[in-house]
Amino acid sequence: MQDNMRKDWDTYFMDIAYMVSTRSRCPRRHVGTVLVQGKKLLGTAYNGAPMGVSDCSEDGCMIVEEYELQTDGEQEQMIKKQRCIRTIHAEQNLLLFTDRIDREGSTVYVTDQPCWTCANMLANSGVVEIVYHRAYSKDSDKVIALMELKGIIFRNLASYEPPAQAGMDIIS
Ligand SMILES: [Zn+2]
Ligand SMILES: [Zn+2]
Repeated sequence: MQDNMRKDWDTYFMDIAYMVSTRSRCPRRHVGTVLVQGKKLLGTAYNGAPMGVSDCSEDGCMIVEEYELQTDGEQEQMIKKQRCIRTIHAEQNLLLFTDRIDREGSTVYVTDQPCWTCANMLANSGVVEIVYHRAYSKDSDKVIALMELKGIIFRNLASYEPPAQAGMDIIS
Protein backbone atom coordinates (compact mmCIF):
# COMPACT_ATOMS: atom_id res chain seq x y z
CA MET A 1 0.00 0.00 0.00
CA GLN A 2 1.34 3.40 -0.94
CA ASP A 3 1.82 6.00 1.75
CA ASN A 4 -0.79 8.33 0.32
CA MET A 5 -3.30 5.46 0.52
CA ARG A 6 -2.57 4.99 4.19
CA LYS A 7 -5.25 6.13 6.60
CA ASP A 8 -4.45 8.98 8.93
CA TRP A 9 -4.95 8.33 12.64
CA ASP A 10 -8.21 10.28 12.86
CA THR A 11 -9.73 8.16 10.07
CA TYR A 12 -8.30 4.98 11.56
CA PHE A 13 -9.80 5.50 15.02
CA MET A 14 -13.09 6.92 13.75
CA ASP A 15 -13.48 3.87 11.48
CA ILE A 16 -13.05 1.68 14.56
CA ALA A 17 -15.66 3.76 16.45
CA TYR A 18 -18.09 3.21 13.55
CA MET A 19 -17.41 -0.52 13.49
CA VAL A 20 -18.00 -0.65 17.26
CA SER A 21 -21.29 1.22 16.76
CA THR A 22 -22.64 -1.66 14.65
CA ARG A 23 -22.86 -3.69 17.89
CA SER A 24 -25.65 -1.42 19.13
CA ARG A 25 -29.12 -2.97 19.18
CA CYS A 26 -31.07 0.28 19.32
CA PRO A 27 -32.58 0.82 15.86
CA ARG A 28 -32.88 4.57 16.44
CA ARG A 29 -29.22 5.37 16.83
CA HIS A 30 -25.96 3.43 16.73
CA VAL A 31 -23.20 5.25 18.57
CA GLY A 32 -19.66 3.93 18.96
CA THR A 33 -16.70 5.34 20.83
CA VAL A 34 -13.06 4.45 21.48
CA LEU A 35 -10.50 5.58 24.04
CA VAL A 36 -7.04 6.32 22.66
CA GLN A 37 -3.86 7.08 24.60
CA GLY A 38 -1.03 8.12 22.29
CA LYS A 39 -1.75 5.79 19.38
CA LYS A 40 -2.93 2.96 21.59
CA LEU A 41 -6.52 1.75 21.75
CA LEU A 42 -7.54 1.36 25.41
CA GLY A 43 -11.26 0.82 25.25
CA THR A 44 -14.36 0.60 23.08
CA ALA A 45 -18.06 1.07 23.84
CA TYR A 46 -21.44 1.50 22.18
CA ASN A 47 -24.89 2.50 23.34
CA GLY A 48 -26.78 -0.40 24.88
CA ALA A 49 -28.92 -1.66 27.74
CA PRO A 50 -27.13 -2.90 30.88
CA MET A 51 -25.76 -6.45 30.64
CA GLY A 52 -28.41 -9.09 31.20
CA VAL A 53 -31.26 -6.65 30.53
CA SER A 54 -33.42 -6.92 27.40
CA ASP A 55 -32.30 -4.55 24.67
CA CYS A 56 -34.23 -2.59 22.04
CA SER A 57 -34.13 -5.46 19.52
CA GLU A 58 -35.84 -7.76 22.06
CA ASP A 59 -38.26 -5.46 23.90
CA GLY A 60 -38.44 -2.48 21.56
CA CYS A 61 -37.18 0.99 22.24
CA MET A 62 -38.19 2.66 25.51
CA ILE A 63 -39.60 5.87 24.12
CA VAL A 64 -40.13 9.12 25.98
CA GLU A 65 -41.53 12.26 24.43
CA GLU A 66 -39.95 15.58 25.23
CA TYR A 67 -40.47 19.10 24.05
CA GLU A 68 -37.37 20.74 22.70
CA LEU A 69 -36.82 24.42 21.96
CA GLN A 70 -35.69 24.95 18.38
CA THR A 71 -34.50 28.25 16.99
CA ASP A 72 -35.01 28.79 13.29
CA GLY A 73 -33.64 32.23 12.46
CA GLU A 74 -35.64 34.55 14.72
CA GLN A 75 -38.42 32.05 15.28
CA GLU A 76 -38.37 29.96 18.43
CA GLN A 77 -40.67 27.02 18.75
CA MET A 78 -41.24 23.99 20.91
CA ILE A 79 -41.03 20.74 18.96
CA LYS A 80 -42.08 17.38 20.32
CA LYS A 81 -39.27 14.83 20.04
CA GLN A 82 -39.14 11.12 20.77
CA ARG A 83 -36.10 9.59 22.41
CA CYS A 84 -35.12 6.07 23.35
CA ILE A 85 -33.91 5.94 26.95
CA ARG A 86 -33.33 2.19 27.18
CA THR A 87 -29.64 2.43 26.38
CA ILE A 88 -26.69 3.69 28.35
CA HIS A 89 -24.97 6.16 26.05
CA ALA A 90 -21.75 4.94 24.43
CA GLU A 91 -19.62 7.58 26.16
CA GLN A 92 -21.01 6.62 29.57
CA ASN A 93 -20.36 2.93 28.90
CA LEU A 94 -16.81 3.87 27.91
CA LEU A 95 -16.36 5.57 31.29
CA LEU A 96 -17.85 2.55 33.08
CA PHE A 97 -15.45 0.13 31.37
CA THR A 98 -12.16 2.05 31.43
CA ASP A 99 -9.87 3.04 34.26
CA ARG A 100 -9.26 6.61 35.34
CA ILE A 101 -5.50 6.15 35.01
CA ASP A 102 -5.91 5.14 31.35
CA ARG A 103 -8.11 8.14 30.64
CA GLU A 104 -5.77 10.82 32.00
CA GLY A 105 -4.52 12.79 28.99
CA SER A 106 -6.37 10.56 26.49
CA THR A 107 -8.48 11.18 23.39
CA VAL A 108 -12.03 9.95 22.86
CA TYR A 109 -13.28 9.29 19.31
CA VAL A 110 -17.05 9.13 19.09
CA THR A 111 -19.31 8.74 16.05
CA ASP A 112 -21.75 11.39 17.33
CA GLN A 113 -21.31 14.71 19.07
CA PRO A 114 -21.88 14.02 22.78
CA CYS A 115 -25.12 15.08 24.46
CA TRP A 116 -24.94 17.41 27.45
CA THR A 117 -24.86 14.67 30.10
CA CYS A 118 -22.12 12.71 28.34
CA ALA A 119 -20.10 15.88 27.69
CA ASN A 120 -20.42 16.85 31.34
CA MET A 121 -19.16 13.42 32.43
CA LEU A 122 -16.33 13.39 29.87
CA ALA A 123 -15.29 16.84 31.12
CA ASN A 124 -14.63 15.23 34.51
CA SER A 125 -13.06 12.02 33.22
CA GLY A 126 -9.42 12.96 32.58
CA VAL A 127 -9.91 13.07 28.78
CA VAL A 128 -8.16 16.01 27.08
CA GLU A 129 -9.52 15.69 23.55
CA ILE A 130 -12.84 14.65 22.01
CA VAL A 131 -13.18 13.97 18.28
CA TYR A 132 -16.64 13.39 16.79
CA HIS A 133 -18.22 12.99 13.36
CA ARG A 134 -22.01 13.49 13.20
CA ALA A 135 -23.26 16.73 14.72
CA TYR A 136 -25.88 16.78 17.46
CA SER A 137 -27.24 20.30 17.46
CA LYS A 138 -29.54 20.06 20.49
CA ASP A 139 -26.84 20.50 23.13
CA SER A 140 -24.09 21.85 20.90
CA ASP A 141 -23.83 25.42 22.22
CA LYS A 142 -23.56 24.48 25.87
CA VAL A 143 -21.28 21.52 25.16
CA ILE A 144 -18.86 23.71 23.16
CA ALA A 145 -18.88 26.34 25.93
CA LEU A 146 -18.09 23.66 28.52
CA MET A 147 -15.20 22.27 26.46
CA GLU A 148 -13.73 25.74 26.09
CA LEU A 149 -14.03 26.34 29.81
CA LYS A 150 -12.31 23.02 30.58
CA GLY A 151 -9.65 23.45 27.86
CA ILE A 152 -10.65 20.17 26.22
CA ILE A 153 -9.91 20.04 22.49
CA PHE A 154 -13.24 19.44 20.74
CA ARG A 155 -12.93 18.56 17.07
CA ASN A 156 -15.45 17.69 14.37
CA LEU A 157 -14.19 15.48 11.53
CA ALA A 158 -16.45 17.25 9.05
CA SER A 159 -14.99 15.73 5.87
CA TYR A 160 -14.74 12.20 7.27
CA GLU A 161 -16.70 9.42 5.48
CA PRO A 162 -17.74 6.42 7.57
CA PRO A 163 -17.23 2.86 6.27
CA ALA A 164 -20.21 1.97 4.04
CA GLN A 165 -21.22 -1.04 6.13
CA ALA A 166 -21.29 0.97 9.39
CA GLY A 167 -23.21 4.10 8.45
CA MET A 168 -26.93 4.31 9.17
CA ASP A 169 -29.78 6.75 8.89
CA ILE A 170 -30.66 8.37 12.16
CA ILE A 171 -34.22 8.78 13.35
CA SER A 172 -34.28 12.14 15.08
ZN1 LIG B 1 -33.77 1.99 21.49
ZN1 LIG C 1 -25.00 11.07 25.68
